[in-house]
Amino acid sequence: MLSIRCPVCGPRDEDEFVFGGDASAVRPADPMACDDQAWTAFLYRRDNPAGPHDELWFHRFGCRRWLRVRRDTRSHAIVAPPLLAEDAGAP
Ligand SMILES: [Zn+2]
Repeated sequence: MLSIRCPVCGPRDEDEFVFGGDASAVRPADPMACDDQAWTAFLYRRDNPAGPHDELWFHRFGCRRWLRVRRDTRSHAIVAPPLLAEDAGAP
């Protein structure tokens, strides 16, 4: 099981969090004005990197804040201290 060090609550089991997906995905500025290809790319097309990857995790059973977590997808090791998403510039 993954242990995530929440900057607010401290180390917690993965069970307390909800995975929020790729933190590097950029939402179109005006979803109502973009074409279907751009919206589909934002919703569904993701890289599948082998190595460090930035992800969003929501601390559902804790402080209820979004974290930006850099995790190595090969080992599941968290390779940098998690940051609050608003401090890390996440969308
Ligand atoms: Zn927390």
